[in-house]
Formats: sequence, C-alpha cells, structure tokens
Amino acid sequence: MDVPFLSLRDVNSRHADELKAAVARVIDSGWYILGEELAAFEREFAAYCGVRHAIGTGNGLDALSLVLRAWREMGELVEGDEVIVPANTFIASFLAITENGLQPVPVEPDPRTFNIDPARVEAAIGPRTRVIMPVHLYGQLADMGAMAEIAGRRGLLLLEDAAQAHGAVHTGTRAGAFGHAAAFSFFPTKNLGALGDAGAVVTDDDQLATYVAALRNYGSEVKYDHPMRGINSRLDEMQAAILRVKLRHLDADSARRRAIAALYREGIDHPGILLPAVAREEAHVWHLFVVRCAWRDALQRHLHALGIQTQVHYPVPPHHQAAYPELAHLRLPVTEQLHDEVLSLPMSPVLSDAQVAQVVAACRAFAEAAA
Ligand SMILES: *Cc1c(COP(=O)(O)O)cnc(C)c1O
Repeated sequence: MDVPFLSLRDVNSRHADELKAAVARVIDSGWYILGEELAAFEREFAAYCGVRHAIGTGNGLDALSLVLRAWREMGELVEGDEVIVPANTFIASFLAITENGLQPVPVEPDPRTFNIDPARVEAAIGPRTRVIMPVHLYGQLADMGAMAEIAGRRGLLLLEDAAQAHGAVHTGTRAGAFGHAAAFSFFPTKNLGALGDAGAVVTDDDQLATYVAALRNYGSEVKYDHPMRGINSRLDEMQAAILRVKLRHLDADSARRRAIAALYREGIDHPGILLPAVAREEAHVWHLFVVRCAWRDALQRHLHALGIQTQVHYPVPPHHQAAYPELAHLRLPVTEQLHDEVLSLPMSPVLSDAQVAQVVAACRAFAEAAA
C-alpha cells in the first residue's frame, strides 16, 4: 500500500455533499465578491480565533503584506524599518516584508522546536527594529509569552505568521490572538484549506481592521472614493462558503493530526532520527511532521522505494535564494544545518493507522540499519 504525502482529494471528499451544497448556494445567489458568505466567514473565523476582526484576503502572502502596508499607512512604519523574522521560514514571510520597503532581519530558530529563539530575537533588536514576526512553523506555536514580553518591553509591533497553525492553543489563547495582528493562509494544503487561494488577517485593533479592509479593496471604503493606494486581494464568496464548511471540521482534524503525531513519536523512537520537540500538546496542530536525520537524502530514498512519499520543508532557506542576493553573506548555521536535515513525513487527517504504522516501520528499519 502506497502512502501519499497528502491526498487533497481524500481530505475534501469527506465533505463532498456539504461542499457542493455551499457552492450551489453561491452560484444561485448571483453575488460572488464581498457578499454575505464572506461576512459570515469573517465573523465565524474571528470568533474561532477569539479576536474582534477577521478580514478575508486573496491569499496568505497578501494577508501578511496588507498588515505591514496598513501599518505604513497608519504611520507606524517607514521605509527601511526592520522586521525580525525566523531565518528558516517559507519565503512568503520575507516577501511580505520586502514588498513593503522594509528590511528583514533573519533570526535563528531553536533546532529542537524549529521555532524562532527568543534569546536571539532580543539580541537582534536594533534602533530601526519596529516589528517582530514569529512564524508558528509546522503548526507549533512559537514562544508567544516571550515574544509578547519582548515586544511590550521594547515597544515593538507583533505580527504572527499563523499560516500553518489554525487552531493551535496556549493557555486558552488561539493562534492569531497573541499579536497585534496575525495572517492566515487557506491555501488548499493548509490545515484549514480552501479549494483555491484564500487568506485572512485577524486583529483586535479596530483601526487596523478598517485599513486592511480598505487596502484589500483598492484602498476604498466607499465605492469610487480612494484615500489610499490599495490592491485587489479579496476572499471570494465561493471560497468563503467552502471555508465555512471546513471550519466546522477543523478541531476534529487537529485531534486526528495529534493522534497521528503521537503514533509517530512513540514508534520512531531511535537516536538515528530526531523527533520534533513539543512544548505543549495543544499548542501544536501538526501541519507537518518534520524529523531530522543526518542521512536525510538516504532516508528519503529508502521511504520512496517503499512507496512512502515525503517532502522537504524547505530545501533552501530564504537568505540563500537568488531572490535575496543582499542576504547571501549572512551566516546562519542552525538554519543551514536544518535545511540539510529536515524531512516531512506523510501527515493529514485522512491517514489511516495502518499507513502510519507502515511509515513507522520503514523509518525504524532505516535507522537501525544506519546506526
Ligand atoms: C503558506 C504560507 C504563507 C503564504 O500563504 P499563501 O496563501 O500561499 O500566500 C505564508 N507563510 C507561511 C509560513 C506559509 O506556510
């Protein structure tokens, strides 16, 4: 039996009847952009996150970018201000910063949790630092107690990149409710995934919410009145209706992901394969299950030969991408080593116990032969 990395067909076919009814409702409504489905999803997702406002956007990158753009319009940020960001994130976190004329300051992670290291954040703060942007990487909340303490003491803005962590909780607070604002992606592979591109900004700040809502819609609150230069990045009615269905199943999916992660952690217990460290069970929603292995490429080949699909998140860190020649001189040894060692095992709520057992057995066989 092959084990796919992630079968989106199987993920979505579980809800086929509900999804088709939602899409039919939108088709029949005759209203496709900025309508009742989006307003309802924004209310429901804000309530889920425990914040006052959610503003739908075209995708997760735009959600991140629109927060920074709104802060520039509000006079909180000026060109050249610095944003602290994890060095080992997906490139979207960096793109949101640079497309707003801001400067990314990459900070190394704790290699056990993969999340940004609070002590190194403190050390990276300089006179131009204005924003800390932690990423809840692979679905695990960054140390938000430490981030909020540092941001508060140093007078910095805190923006969560929550694209991988829908529903992760720490002491009753959900991902998205820790910072001044947060950005979510609903890309199809994310834990809460649309059937196309979609994203959202969430915040408790009324003024920021007003700015983001205008900026995503040509900088306009009143039709044909444009006090700001906005963009066109809206979450359409079809995707909003689909996301309302999938939001109702998110917590059950997170529970299943946790159960799969528990099976992996119990089963793959061998020094040849380093397991991810978990600070608190409920603070991780296992967007990805990422192990480290000194012989990563050989492990990946071994698994593929057995029909088990894996991926690498991510093979090249942003500061080594050709898009950022100005960052190429940086030496970030923790990040660079992680990119050579990480391997993402199959993970999704539709994986069966038998498939998980197959992955566990294949990993153990490799580790015992290699060690
Ligand atoms: C997916 C992702 C994004 C971007 O989301 P899109 O919807 O693909 O634009 C941003 N940051 C992180 C960490 C992501 O995983």
